[in-house]
This record gives sequence, C-alpha cells and structure tokens, in this order.
Amino acid sequence: MLGLMQNHPLMISGLLDFAARYHGDTEIVSRRVEGDVHRTTYAEVQQRASQCANALDALGLAAQDRVGTLAWNGYRHFELYYAASGSERILHTLNPRLHPEQIAWIINHADDRMVCFDLTFAPIAKAVAAHCPGVKHWVALCEADALPADLAEAIPGVLSYDALLAAQPARYAWPVFDENTASSLCYTSGTTGNPKGVLYSHRSTVLHAYAAALPDVMNLSARDSVLPVVPMFHVNAWGIPYAAALTGAKLVFPGPALDGKSLFELMRDEGVTLAAGVPTVWLGLLNFMRDNKVRIPTLQRTVIGGSAAAPAMIRAFEEELGIHVLHAWGMTEMSPLGTLCSLKNKHLALDKASQFAIQVKQGRPIFGVDVRVVDGNGADLPWDGKSTGNLLVRGPWIASDYYRSEAPSPLQDGWFPTGDVVTIDADGYIQITDRTKDVIKSGGEWISSIELENIAMAHPAVAMAACIARPDPKWDERPLLVVVKREGSTLDRDELLKFYEGKVAKWMIPDDVVFVPAIPLGATGKMLKNRLRAELTAPQAASPQA
Ligand code: ADP
Repeated sequence: MLGLMQNHPLMISGLLDFAARYHGDTEIVSRRVEGDVHRTTYAEVQQRASQCANALDALGLAAQDRVGTLAWNGYRHFELYYAASGSERILHTLNPRLHPEQIAWIINHADDRMVCFDLTFAPIAKAVAAHCPGVKHWVALCEADALPADLAEAIPGVLSYDALLAAQPARYAWPVFDENTASSLCYTSGTTGNPKGVLYSHRSTVLHAYAAALPDVMNLSARDSVLPVVPMFHVNAWGIPYAAALTGAKLVFPGPALDGKSLFELMRDEGVTLAAGVPTVWLGLLNFMRDNKVRIPTLQRTVIGGSAAAPAMIRAFEEELGIHVLHAWGMTEMSPLGTLCSLKNKHLALDKASQFAIQVKQGRPIFGVDVRVVDGNGADLPWDGKSTGNLLVRGPWIASDYYRSEAPSPLQDGWFPTGDVVTIDADGYIQITDRTKDVIKSGGEWISSIELENIAMAHPAVAMAACIARPDPKWDERPLLVVVKREGSTLDRDELLKFYEGKVAKWMIPDDVVFVPAIPLGATGKMLKNRLRAELTAPQAASPQA
C-alpha cells in the first residue's frame, strides 16, 4: 500500500519562491567586480531571476540546454543559479581559474549554448569564443553601458546581462517537472586526466540543501548572515546558495576580493555569522586579523573543508579569534557534503584536549550519506579509528556516473569510491589520512602526508606545508617536506625536522625539507602536490629508515 501523501516534486525554484515569500526583505549583499558593494533582497532576486528566465526563453534556449557561467560569487550569479535551473535548463558553473584551453574543452564537452561571464573574465571569453562554436550567446554580467567596445569587436553579438533582463517581465511561472531532472553541472578540477562532469538533479540539490542546514551540519537559520568564500564555481559553493534560501539566511558574496583585509571588512560590516572556505583562503584572513589585532564579533563559526584543515589552524581560530571551526569533508561528486565534525552529547563532559582531538577529524556522515572503509580487496575494515582503507560512499546526492563519459560507471556494487584513505572510529568519525595518490608508501608501510603536514603547520615559523613522496631505491618512497616560511623567520631544515621528534614514529619523519617561496595552488585553492612531485622529486640515494 502506498502512503496517502502528496507527491510534490522537489524543485530548486521552490527554494527561491519560499525565500521571496517569507524572507522577501532579507538582504543579499555583494562586493561587485565594479568595486562597490551592491545590495538586493530575496524578493528582488525572485523578480530578476524571473526576468532572466524570460530572457532565456526569448533567446530560444530549450529545456535542458546548458547555461555556462564564468563568475565570482555575486547576486547576478545567484540569479542565474535559479533562473537557469528553475526554467528547466542546466546551470553549468565553469572554473575561471583553469587554463583557457581547458575551459574551452569543458564548454564543448558540456555543449553549452550560452556563457555568462563577469567582466573580469572577459579575456577568457575572448580567448575561447572562437573555439566554442556551440555557444550561441555570450553574455557579459554588467550594465549595458559598461560593455567594453573591444569586447563587442572580439565577440560579435555579445550581450549585456542587465540589458537582457530589463527587456523582460518580472514574473515567470516556474515549471514543475520530474524532480530527477538535471539541474546543474560542475566539472571536477581534474588533477589527473580530463575534467569529469558531475550532473546534479533538482531532487539531489534540494535534499542536500536540507542536509546542509541541519544543526550538526552548518546550523543555518533566518538569523544567520552567511559568507561563502568558497566559489560558486566550486561545487555550487558547497550548496550554500540553496541552503541559505531554504532557511532565509542573509547572503554576503565577496566577489573577487578574497584577501584577508577585504574579507575582514565585509564580514565586520555585514554582521557575518558563518563563513565557509578552503584552508588556503583562511590563512590570509588569519594573518590579517592577527597582525592588526582585530576581531569580527558576530562571526561564530566557519566551515573549513576541501582539503585538510590543520589542527594548528583550527586552534588559532578557536583560541585566538573565538571562532568555532566546523571541519567538513566532501567532493564534487557528493554535491559536496559528506561529513562534518561536531561533538555528541557524551563528548560534552570531556576535557578540552579530548574534545579537540575529535574536532580536528573530518567528522561524522550526514544523514543520507552511507560510508564504508575497505581494504585493497574490497573487504570491510573495522571501525576502530586505526584501520586505514579506502572510503566508499552512497546516497541520494552522490553521483552515479559522469556526464557524457565513455568510461564505465565508477560505482562498485552501488558504492562510489572516493579515492580517499581514511580511518573510521566506533562513533563514525572519519579521519582522512590521504588521497590514494598522495599517500607515501615507505618500506611497505603507509605514511599519511596530511599528518606530517599538520605537524609542520603547528610550528610557529611555518606558513604553509606540503608533504610529498620522493622515490627511494631502498624504501620505495620517502616523505619530503615542502615549506613556505613565515615572513622574517630563520627556520632551517634541522630545526624543523627536530620538531617531529616524539610526535610520530622515527621512520615517518621526513627525510628532507625544501623551502620554497610559494606552493602552487590548483583551481580550487588546493595544493598541487602532483606539480610539486614533478618539480622536486628525483630518485635519491637510499636514506635511513630506523
Ligand atoms: P577535486 O577532486 O577535483 O580536487 P573536489 O573538490 O571534489 O575536487 O575534491 C574532493 C577531495 O578533496 C576529497 O576526495 C578529499 O581528498 C579532499 N578533501 C575535501 N575535504 C577534505 C578535508 N576536510 N580533509 C582532507 N581532504 C579533504
């Protein structure tokens, strides 16, 4: 017997309808590429997203046509999120930090019909337009009179987004259709091989938004002011543009200004209560707030994920700045949220140090995400917090396949292999020790590069650290530490290696340290260890492994 409940499909447009109806005057604040701070509301976003959807109709875009974006976090990008998906097109967020050739490849692979770009990214649009014949409309996210003359010469027919909207009525009847219909598309950053497209649905997106808002996840409410530093082109800014509408939270978009000073000022001025981003962006903010001895009184918590947040960074946020860190783990294929770290009731009685030991882990699975840890043969390993193996996941917001992929589905008996190496403890807390491709295999043992990086990051003279495998004739691989020193520090190799003594087994201590001015970061702000390996590792003579 079926239940007697209405079968109303979960639609992305429903999120904006809700926010506009019940939180119509709640603000959406954006630092624009134009340099100023722009203010709008959910009610106005609803109107402009409607105008935008009417414009997509007028331009002849069919249902399920891909609408590409090359844009920072801002209100126009936010409008496009709802206009494209809400009108049954597919929003395709492109990562502007990729090389233009790679961007053109992705646009063509996705077969985008339209690409909307911030003026900052006009050079990319100009560089790729001629190579993307499938794109019928190039739209600059600006007012009509801000369209640079040379842009119109380089891309004949280029349109102004604001002019397009101005010509359209501010009402749109958002269609209702199968909730499993594709809504948006995001390519993985593709550190190995070509990027792969992850195609989200209305259902997966709305369920993920519910999950993201939960108290043990981001704990979002209508009293929050949320600043996603994580870009809207990186896995939908971790779902915040949807979860904020679902809860009626105020949104604050930083645009292109991601340096510590700009972020600090925007957070202070807009009463930001929650911010989210990858560890590398927080270094700038931390340093600025330390150096200038300033605080953001409203900022209660920050979600840090995308790569491991070093315990030293978590401690600095908590103890120096009074900001609670929620360590999160996920991936593009998971919309992205998989786990988030928060304590349980029974942990409240623990002392601070024991609580901290839990808090630095990547956290517990969110309801909806099933996990397993398996060995090389696919056999389940115990959840004892010690056994290390490959993490498998499944759930309603986890990819079943890649878009237009010729390869067989990545699933193994219905489970998605994450490529992450983890331990899971009896309470379900997951600790990521490495990505499979970054783990250091020394003398038959595995050394966690993240653990060695975390130790280096705890040294006061270290600004950033990456640990990579260096080929070794005797041990197969040995750890090599690559470090950016804090300004003015005189730290040397021996002092740093001595810092490891007593913190890990002797044979795990890195063989050597290379000091560099900067560590290369990928398109989503993660350390490019593959490039470091290529640049810095040459076969070495056998080294001691006690
Ligand atoms: P890409 O795989 O293309 O770099 P993603 O953003 O999807 O893009 O990356 C997901 C990966 O990032 C995860 O599989 C994991 O290796 C890593 N990651 C994400 N969050 C964390 C975290 N909190 N700690 C350690 N690694 C993380």
